[in-house]
Amino acid sequence: MQKIEKPKKPLIFYYFVAMVVVILLNTLLFPRLMHQEITQVDYGTFLTMLENKEVAVAQVEQDVIYFTDTSEEPGMYATIPFNDPDLVNRLWESGCMFAQVKPQEMNPILSFLLTFILPVVIFIAIGQLMSRALMKKLGGGPMGGAMQFGKSSAKVYIASETGMKFTDVAGEDEAKENLMEVVDFLHNPQKYQEIGAKMPKGVLLVGPPGTGKTLLAKAVAGEAGVPFFSISGSEFVEMFVGMGANKVRDLFKQANEKAPCIVFIDEIDTIGKKRDASGMGGGNDEREQTLNQLLTEMDGFEGSKGVVILAATNRPETLDPALLRPGRFDRRVPVELPDLQGREAILKVHAARVKLAENVDFNAIARAASGASGAELANMVNEAALRAVRQGRKFVTQEDLQESIEVVIAGYQKKNKILSDHERMIVSYHEIGHALVAALQTHSAPVAKITIIPRTSGALGYTMQVEQEERNLMSREELENQIATLTGGRAAEEIVFHSITTGASNDIEKATKLARAMVTRYGMTDDFDMVALETVTNQYMGGDTALACAPETSAKIDQMVVDTVKTQHGKALKLLKDNEGKLHELSKFLCEKETITGEEFMRILEKKD
Ligand code: ADP
Ligand code: MG
Ligand code: ZN
Repeated sequence: MQKIEKPKKPLIFYYFVAMVVVILLNTLLFPRLMHQEITQVDYGTFLTMLENKEVAVAQVEQDVIYFTDTSEEPGMYATIPFNDPDLVNRLWESGCMFAQVKPQEMNPILSFLLTFILPVVIFIAIGQLMSRALMKKLGGGPMGGAMQFGKSSAKVYIASETGMKFTDVAGEDEAKENLMEVVDFLHNPQKYQEIGAKMPKGVLLVGPPGTGKTLLAKAVAGEAGVPFFSISGSEFVEMFVGMGANKVRDLFKQANEKAPCIVFIDEIDTIGKKRDASGMGGGNDEREQTLNQLLTEMDGFEGSKGVVILAATNRPETLDPALLRPGRFDRRVPVELPDLQGREAILKVHAARVKLAENVDFNAIARAASGASGAELANMVNEAALRAVRQGRKFVTQEDLQESIEVVIAGYQKKNKILSDHERMIVSYHEIGHALVAALQTHSAPVAKITIIPRTSGALGYTMQVEQEERNLMSREELENQIATLTGGRAAEEIVFHSITTGASNDIEKATKLARAMVTRYGMTDDFDMVALETVTNQYMGGDTALACAPETSAKIDQMVVDTVKTQHGKALKLLKDNEGKLHELSKFLCEKETITGEEFMRILEKKD
């Protein structure tokens, strides 16, 4: 991709230069001009100099004598005269001149002009000159608006050989199809106009972070072969009120001139947030003005003119409804987390840039990386390549990739973290507790790996479960089993050590979240039937929820969540007690080996004593 416009230096830079110049002038030049240094000497010295004929010029005032010496660069002196009747004679005899020595006091008005007004004038003149030159460089008119602060800094992209293509985006087929239609429209508008079809004015890409929204937009730029204006929502947020709105106006003016073209506004939620009906705060004026301007501009041009507005966000629920109504962003393209196939494809796209061993099995990696976004997968491939370099190999192996999944999920191995023997024992039992409960329940995913090597994320160990195939639906039993598995770690500690530790905090958080969702969102309790008690407020960013029920109901929900977790905890305790022999055997094995595979685990579990 090739940028047409160079990023310009902010105007403030030139003012800064001007200011430095003025300060230099003021401190170095003016003081010399105006106050030449006068050396005070005593009367004796003056008389000696007179006798030695070293005085060149003298000026006698009532209570001070100014004089200069006879050197090449005469210095100026002053002395206080004594009541010396001989003074005139002495002066006469020394042969010095009688003349003005001290320069005339400067006219106070002139001095003021020189020290205060002149710098300011120079300052402004330089600033004007610079900004004038700048405007010329940018091709604006001679006066091109008083200042350039409000100019949109949208970068203009044109297609070039280096640009992204749709083939760089793996998976996301629906989104690609959608955007290809947009590109096709820009190339063959008559095909659509003949039937009377209008292109949507705005296309909004929504999805979790790292799923390739920005990447897709770049691919559109690469494929479209029309000018592509790209700007991030945060760039509209300006220092001065009204400037954001100005930028929007300017952006659309440029777009209209260059049509057919595409305007891409990334992270549109920064300017497109719901306007505040209550008028609280009052500090949102600027953002509101910007949004209003955007709405106005979107209404202002004809869809058939060939300006398509593309926007991306990962917080669609926060957008102002006015943005989403027909005629504005009327097409919403979901860019979701990749499924198994998608993950495999993304891994392959990124792995094409690294040297691979022959036995690499992308499917296995994709399965283990369930829930990872495109950005995380790209990161995994890179981590694997870095690991290969660290180990002095010339290619990436399956182990590199497997380890890199764990790096991205759990952080690096923390080699210098030393656990005491007792702690290692506890962590081993905790992890085996999870794994054993998972394995003993029919509906739980099989165990792939268990390790007690601490990670930089703070995890002291973990159990990796990998589903055989991609899951889209979860039954109530499966969710309950997941909760039981999460409580399995703590349950094992209780059974063996008769005490509990902080090691289960993450498990507790997850189990609570699951149990709560079962009650409030999945309608899985008899008491509340199919009633939604919570709504998701932040679908793509952590899935925050907001309670939507009476306080009494809320208390009841809490009780049911506690009951659900308690029941599953009890189940886990029972499962582990019934298999205490295996629990001990497996834990000792793990404690010795630090990391065991799913097969090793199953072998010991299925071995008959
Ligand atoms: P978003 O804008 O949705 O937050 P980005 O488009 O910035 O995500 O994606 C970040 C990086 O992740 C991309 O530069 C790319 O390397 C990688 N990536 C994400 N999704 C995909 C995908 N579907 N195919 C290939 N690479 C992807
Ligand atoms: Mg992005
Ligand atoms: Zn745990």
